[in-house]
Amino acid sequence: MQYQSFLIKYAEIGVKGKNRYLFEDALVTQIRHSLKRVDGDFIVSKESGRIYVNAESEYDFDEVIEALKCIFGIAAICPMIQVEDNGYEDLKKQVQSYVDEFYEDKNFTFKVNARRGNKKYPVNSEQINRDLGELILHAFPETKVDVHKPDVMLHVEVRNKINIYSHVIPGPGGMPVGTNGKAMLLLSGGIDSPVAGYMIAKRGVKIDAVYFHAPPYTSERAKQKVVDLAKLVSKYSGPIRLHIVNFTDIQLYIYDKCPHEELTIIMRRYMMRIAERLSEESGAMALITGESIGQVASQTMQSLAATDAATTMPVFRPVIGFDKQEIVDVSEKIGTYETSVLPFEDCCTIFVAKHPVTKPSLKMIERSEEKLEEKIDELVETAISTVEKVWC
Ligand code: ATP
Ligand code: MG
Repeated sequence: MQYQSFLIKYAEIGVKGKNRYLFEDALVTQIRHSLKRVDGDFIVSKESGRIYVNAESEYDFDEVIEALKCIFGIAAICPMIQVEDNGYEDLKKQVQSYVDEFYEDKNFTFKVNARRGNKKYPVNSEQINRDLGELILHAFPETKVDVHKPDVMLHVEVRNKINIYSHVIPGPGGMPVGTNGKAMLLLSGGIDSPVAGYMIAKRGVKIDAVYFHAPPYTSERAKQKVVDLAKLVSKYSGPIRLHIVNFTDIQLYIYDKCPHEELTIIMRRYMMRIAERLSEESGAMALITGESIGQVASQTMQSLAATDAATTMPVFRPVIGFDKQEIVDVSEKIGTYETSVLPFEDCCTIFVAKHPVTKPSLKMIERSEEKLEEKIDELVETAISTVEKVWC
């Protein structure tokens, strides 16, 4: 026997009042979107505060669970059987065959947890608990009751139909993407920025991304790697529109005019400015980066302050307080690590100075940027007007 339905439990946070509908609808949309990638036909429905996924055809159980485990807002996935209300004796039969089918080894402790959503049902939940408990003990003498720490918590929910389930698979938590606006992720080919995008998407924020490409200093394969990373993040965040900016002329111009030890900071400031302009167009309300305090010269407190000063938008840095290993752990968990460590140059590794400034003052950086006055605006306009957009 195979489960034909899944009960989707979601976190209560953020589901109060009017938001509840937005939250549920966004969750249903994300589930439908995600199941499109899975073989089989599924109906996703919302019924009195519950979300159900019903399989209408053959499907692969593990594949469905894997897909659902990527959807933010899901607190738990409960594979279940749903039966018609054909009277109390029939319910007993159904519960007995559920236990028989899904537990080959009956050597377990259990507790029955009945809930009567339909108050017209003639038997109250305490009585259901007692009757079903006795029934199981009698039918399968190896089982034992344990009301405190049962191996199996058998849930029986009496609604218009009756849900029977006992497996609770944890979801990723968070909030459904689309419930908290949109932000622009500065996505490089490294380990940190895909993790940063994942973490902000987890809070319900839709993600657009921008990659600064510097051909021929950075290869087509480096660009493809970023596209691949965006696709991996999109398993969680939903489709990502990736903006690929040709940054070569801007980088060369900065290289030509500014002190080399300030290159990275000045480049980073132009990335912020261009990301801000692209955000205006796409409706993103914040920028996201994978910076973490002290990781490299461009991520000291002074450098971060100088980078921040280039934009008036909020900049989200969700891994700011993480050690590298902690970021690596998340990237392994979400499946971006292997792609991130592929050895293609990203644009910053080519233009790094031997001794970059670690304590830049904003005044000093602004003075250096004055040297760019002649051509920089035009170069920025060209970079923006030639952006390549790819759906990932
Ligand atoms: P990552 O592992 O994310 O590449 P990193 O440790 O290599 O980060 P930096 O190269 O200093 O750190 O970059 C810091 C942040 O700046 C990145 O996390 C990313 O958000 C952004 N960034 C850097 N280079 C690019 C780029 N070429 N395109 C888009 N964003 C970039
Ligand atoms: Mg990088």
